Amino acid sequence: MTAHIIDGKAFATSLRDKITEQTSWLKQKHGITPGLAVVLVGEDPASQIYVRSKGKQTLEVGMNSYEHKLSADTTEAELLERIHQLNSDPDVHGILVQLPLPQHIDEALVINAIDAAKDVDGFHISNVGRLATGQKAMVPCTPLGCLMMLREYCGNLSGLNAVVVGRSNIVGKPMAQLLLKDNCTVTVVHSRTQNLPEIVSHADIVVAAVGQPLFVKSEWIKTGATVIDVGINRIQRADGTGQLVGDVDYDAVKEVADSITPVPGGVGPMTIACLLANTITACCRSHSLPEPHGLTA
Ligand code: NAP
Repeated sequence: MTAHIIDGKAFATSLRDKITEQTSWLKQKHGITPGLAVVLVGEDPASQIYVRSKGKQTLEVGMNSYEHKLSADTTEAELLERIHQLNSDPDVHGILVQLPLPQHIDEALVINAIDAAKDVDGFHISNVGRLATGQKAMVPCTPLGCLMMLREYCGNLSGLNAVVVGRSNIVGKPMAQLLLKDNCTVTVVHSRTQNLPEIVSHADIVVAAVGQPLFVKSEWIKTGATVIDVGINRIQRADGTGQLVGDVDYDAVKEVADSITPVPGGVGPMTIACLLANTITACCRSHSLPEPHGLTA
């Protein structure tokens, strides 16, 4: 059996189409243009690429994009002042502070200074708590994208055994909460877990967010499972050229699984699409408008 390949690129395109429609409806019907502010501190090259890509996609769906590029020596107080300005700006519905921040700035302090209703990354402590207690929250983009693909490909998730490999605050933990909310039986495994392969082998759904290239092996996968690979790892081939691979041994696992996300082209493209979805959700909530179907958890 060769698995169905879950095309995250196509899924992200259809999600952006929905967002474009919704944005144009908000403009025409209510005279509101959703706005996303992205704050970048310093010149980290990878962060610059992400921010550029976020800005481009924000404009492409018809939203306003506000880029705030601050120098690496920006003080914590200056950054907090900028966040406060964005919190009180009615044209800004979503705020994202690109991580990592320079070492002299307390990341948690900055994230928690964002108005939770505008926290489109879903990292604010009150959104974390809301998600954990089943209340309406802003949901972190990467796990939200994984959930959307799982719902599309597995249908109703209720009662399925899900194993999340990794317990980070940005992927593993919120992923587990979302699966629990959809009534899966959820196990989270990590670097101290004993019998990890055995636990994974009972899973109907495996979400790998480990940061270790090709970590999840085909022998661990139950026949017919759905495998979502969040990992992005750059490895060197024998000929010295670079290659992007996930946390799942894709070539072998696709012979066992029912469906699987590739790397690249799986979870990756969904992350920015979900950021835009969260911006629409935040915009609708702030104006007490009905939330569009299918854009949040
Ligand atoms: P992270 O913060 O480094 O967390 C990795 C998790 O994996 C930790 O919980 C760690 O366990 C666990 N782990 C590490 N080695 C392990 C091992 N040998 N056995 C079992 N568990 C192990 O990483 P992250 O931020 O969640 O990201 C995970 C991967 O997803 C990375 O490749 C990252 O680049 C990628 N990512 C992709 C996107 C996207 O948009 N596609 C977004 C975010 C992240 P402990 O807690 O015990 O240390």
